[in-house]
Amino acid sequence: MTNKIVVFSGAGMSAESGIKTFRDSNGLWEDYNIHDIATPEAWGKNSDLVNEFYNQRRKQIIQSQPNSAHYAIVELEKYADVQIITQNIDDLHERAGSSNVLHLHGNIRYAKSSGPNQEKNYYRINGDELTIKDVCPEGFRLRPHVVWFGEHVPMMETAACYVNESTHFIVIGSSLQVYPAANLVLCCSEKTKKWIIDPKAEEISNPSGFTRISEKAGDGVSAVIKEIITSLS
Ligand code: NAD
Repeated sequence: MTNKIVVFSGAGMSAESGIKTFRDSNGLWEDYNIHDIATPEAWGKNSDLVNEFYNQRRKQIIQSQPNSAHYAIVELEKYADVQIITQNIDDLHERAGSSNVLHLHGNIRYAKSSGPNQEKNYYRINGDELTIKDVCPEGFRLRPHVVWFGEHVPMMETAACYVNESTHFIVIGSSLQVYPAANLVLCCSEKTKKWIIDPKAEEISNPSGFTRISEKAGDGVSAVIKEIITSLS
């Protein structure tokens, strides 16, 4: 049987690259109210402010580099099929070299149309800024290619299928408090080998049958990957 490793990453995956998580102390939500910058209503009310928030995030992400955990996951591709499902809107998995990355909540390097068929009409942003003057070829204003609170998560079903078919499932750096994404931990088969790597792994509720590794991504991923490679070699 082909080994299928699914990595489900959250904001903690990129913490050692210097990108803030949302909920930790000193996290992003301490400086912003989500209703002002990460909802469709916020976009309708003050698109300039929303663009400015994501322009700042994009600039920081462009200046950041993948960390050792991103690179360690790429190594796994030598031993098995590897699918990343990330809640992150940064592109650090791709820049580390991972081949298969599904962005559940979008990718900040892209913009999408705010008109109909949003999911089909998206565009790589040249440079680091999106402004309210930027429009798609059909004339609709471009918005950041991110899934905001209260919006449908279009890739959820595809992600659930990947998790369901996985032989190994590794959750890295997610508080598992954002839904529906957090439901993915319930989609594995009983036979799947499962880990959760997070400094607060013991505090995270919900998943049963997971080996909890209470470490930062860099050290935790390295340990789990060694274990998997040894078992597959
Ligand atoms: P979260 O902020 O709710 O949880 C982050 C988790 O990371 C916490 O459990 C924390 O203990 C853990 N963590 C902190 N430092 C870590 C480290 N060095 N190594 C491993 N884990 C560490 O994040 P979430 O569960 O991903 O959900 C919040 C939403 O925030 C997601 O939808 C995501 O799109 C968005 N987000 C993305 C980014 C990004 O793109 N890099 C950054 C912030 C938030």
